[in-house]
Amino acid sequence: MTNKPKLLIIYTGGTIGMVNDPKTGQLISFDFNHMYNHIPELERLHVSLETISFNPPIDSSEMNPVFWAEIAQNVSDNYSKYDGFVILHGSDTMAYTSSALSFMLQNLSKPVILTGSQLPIGTIRTDGKENLITAIEIAASKDKNGESLIKEVAVYFECSLFRGNRCSKISATHFEAFSSPNYPALAVAGVEIKYNSERIFKPTYKDLTLFTAFNNQVALLKIFPGFSANVYRNLFDINQVKGIIMETFGAGNAPTNDEFRQLIVNYIENGGIILNITQCNSGSVQQGKYETSSFFDKIGVISGKDMTTEAALAKMMYLLGSESSKEAVQQKLAISLQGEMTE
Ligand code: ASP
Repeated sequence: MTNKPKLLIIYTGGTIGMVNDPKTGQLISFDFNHMYNHIPELERLHVSLETISFNPPIDSSEMNPVFWAEIAQNVSDNYSKYDGFVILHGSDTMAYTSSALSFMLQNLSKPVILTGSQLPIGTIRTDGKENLITAIEIAASKDKNGESLIKEVAVYFECSLFRGNRCSKISATHFEAFSSPNYPALAVAGVEIKYNSERIFKPTYKDLTLFTAFNNQVALLKIFPGFSANVYRNLFDINQVKGIIMETFGAGNAPTNDEFRQLIVNYIENGGIILNITQCNSGSVQQGKYETSSFFDKIGVISGKDMTTEAALAKMMYLLGSESSKEAVQQKLAISLQGEMTE
């Protein structure tokens, strides 16, 4: 049949692509070129599918900016040939990759949907088939003008489609493994797939921009009661670390001891950038609400508002790679670039 939407599936690895080896019974990655043998249901979808695979496929714990760039480059190279892209990925670091891709691939007018599963596709109770089939359906969906319904990087998992830079993995065991507490689902799949059109990202320019030169000289510091600034002194070395994501308590609070404060002041004076996000699953940093955070405001720590850790890390790496001045990085950290935070 003609006029079928054409999708490219990029298999990076993870549980979803595993089947039982008929000889040994062990779980092994299957060759996605033989996808229809393992998931015959795909034949019945009104889409034309082509696949490319990482060689070898990787567990998503091995993901890094080089692999993110490989995925983004694959999308960019094939952008004009396909109507949408489905990235099969291990769930463990999927939210980091979806966050990174949202900054690597800007001005998308086609969907880039990441999905995976908690159980291998080759097992009877797998969640992988539903995840894959619905992700494909979403990636192929168009409005009456022939434009893709989704024009951004998103994660589809267990009936929900989330903005890629707004979700986190929340369960190692439940099929409902992701949540997006500060931004509503872009779509929910029940008997029908219901799209939340008002919340779907609307690109302002037409042409896809690819940017892959992330700078990974970043660090993540989770504050805890009893935290000793001295133990973390090396983290505040500007020669090694250009930007720090600081996960603080509640609305952005941290201990007020002089040792810690001095470390922060010196680091910022030497050119370092600190982004303050909350350890809470939902809600936002509000620097200055309490005395324990007003100091951050005064010395130039940037509020990351309601950004996830995954989005904050990806955004920092992106801006350190793309901007030439500290001021530009700080200015862009404070505003939403790809729908990653509520302003
Ligand atoms: N460890 C696997 C991965 O993230 C788990 C999964 O695929 O869900 O690659």
